Formats: sequence, C-alpha cells, structure tokens
Amino acid sequence: MPQASSARAALSNLFLNFLNNSLKIHQTCLLCGQRCPDDFCPACEQDWQQQHRLCPQKNVVPLQQIAAAFPYQWPLTRLVQQFKYHRQLTLAAPLARLMHRYLPHYPPEACPDFLVPIPLHPQRFAKRGFNQSAELALQLGHLRQIPVSFQCLARTIATPSQVGLTAQQRQHNLGHAFAVRHPVAGQKIVLIDDVMTTGTTLAQAAKTLLEAGAKQVDAWVFASTPAHFS
Ligand SMILES: [Zn+2]
Repeated sequence: MPQASSARAALSNLFLNFLNNSLKIHQTCLLCGQRCPDDFCPACEQDWQQQHRLCPQKNVVPLQQIAAAFPYQWPLTRLVQQFKYHRQLTLAAPLARLMHRYLPHYPPEACPDFLVPIPLHPQRFAKRGFNQSAELALQLGHLRQIPVSFQCLARTIATPSQVGLTAQQRQHNLGHAFAVRHPVAGQKIVLIDDVMTTGTTLAQAAKTLLEAGAKQVDAWVFASTPAHFS
C-alpha cells in the first residue's frame, strides 16, 4: 500500500538520520573538530595528558582527598559550558570517560561503597532541566562499576549562584544547605562534581555526610580552577 510504503520510508529516513548523526559524533573530535574515530583526536589527547599533569590531588577539610582530572582552563571551559549551560547532554559520556581515564583508581579494598553527585536544589533543577553532576556520576559509576546514590544527599536551601563569590561568602551562603536522606553510617563515599572552584560546596556536602555517620568522604571532579592548586 502506498501509504504504508511512505510511512516505512519516512521511518527508514528517520533511522538513517539518527545513525548518521550518531556516527558523525564519533567521527569528529569534540574539541577541535578534526575527523577521528574517538571522542578526541590524538593531538587533543596529548593536550589532555599535559593538562592532567598540572593537576595534583588536594585535601580540603573534611574531605580526605579531592582528585581533579584537569585544571579548569581553556579549552575545557568551553566544553563544560556547552555541557552545563547549553544542554549538550551528549557530552556527559565523553567527559565521564576522561574522568575515568585520568582520576585515580582505588585498590579494591579502598573502593568507595557508592558515588554521590552534588545535588541541585529542586528549583535550580527545574530551571536547568538536569543535574550535570548526576549525569557525570551515572556515566562514571557505570564505567567503574560503582553504585551511584542519587537520593542520598539533598539540597535543602536554594542558595544563590556561587559564581564570583569568595570562599567566605560561599561558606556563609551554603550554611546547612544539604541534608542526608538515606543511611550512610560506616560508608565510604565519593562525591562527584563537574567543577571545583574553592571547594566550599564539596566540603559542606562532605561535612553533612560525615555528621550522618559516613566513614570517609572523597571527591572526584572533572576540573578544578588552577588557582586552587597554586
Ligand atoms: Zn582534537
């Protein structure tokens, strides 16, 4: 029947368009646009390695360890902004793959019990439509075979944007901004966030989890502001 054929053709076209778009994503470096079979071309991969070396691990009380895969500087800033503010959710998987590759791998006996993404307040979540840290945690948990708890930590206060504030102002803003919704006693937890600036948010989240009985809280972030490591 002509109508059925035309419907089938339309569906085939849709499917082919989807395939072509998917293939295109994997044939182009996400950073420089060069054709390549992976997320990033060899030249950009070399840059990743150089940038990673600039990013030592850091302690921020009460976190036992914060590991950032990269310093937050160009061209990473563009990638993160596309992901976070321009809703390019397809970037979550490649960014998580970089985290998986460059963040420390713990020995089995030190493996965290679960990952906890830094939550957004429901108002901000509704505005943005997704939580970038949760998207990274989902992908990273899958890659590292570590459970992810999306409900464990909740943001109870709609804090204003932290951008441009000093550490002291951020601390004041955050106050008791987090609450624990699931039992965490005796658990080893790794917080996941996209970008760390002063570390105040991570420290406040860790404090809340430790006060609820967590045994240890570390953090893995995609990028950290270079000033933090100077
Ligand atoms: Zn490239």
